[in-house]
Amino acid sequence: MSNCIFCSIVEKQIPSKVIYEDDKFLSFLDIAPGSKGHVLIVPKIHAETLLDLPDEYASKILPLAKKIAAGMKKVLGFSDFNIIQNNGPLAGQSVGHYHMHIIPRYDGSELSLWTPHENDPSVTDELASKIREQIG
Ligand code: 5GP
Ligand code: ZN
Repeated sequence: MSNCIFCSIVEKQIPSKVIYEDDKFLSFLDIAPGSKGHVLIVPKIHAETLLDLPDEYASKILPLAKKIAAGMKKVLGFSDFNIIQNNGPLAGQSVGHYHMHIIPRYDGSELSLWTPHENDPSVTDELASKIREQIG
């Protein structure tokens, strides 16, 4: 897609610090990292969110993240890390081309992904059953 920054990075029109590449994915260092070594994995096709990503990509990205995180750990020396993947602007997605974050955690690095709430009475067995029916 012509106005997509990650498509431009995949096509090497915009430079990036590449750490892995194969026929389906490009992985590179984030330009504004949450911590040292923050990596992105991007499919080489334009898909906006997880729901748009074909299963042949979705099924391969987690094993790839595992392989990349293991390599990162050896170089960067961290023991803990987050895999984060935002879908849509309300979820914090700022680039509309599916991507997965691998973010190393070092001593003292902040972690706050959500604030837990008290039990919500509208979250009922009926709600669970409605969602179950949709999934099939
Ligand atoms: P999102 O908020 O969409 O989940 O994450 C987008 C990520 O892409 C951000 O962490 C941001 O720093 C990174 N990013 C945006 N533009 C560029 C770029 O041109 N190069 C690189 N390497 N990372 C980028
Ligand atoms: Zn794109």
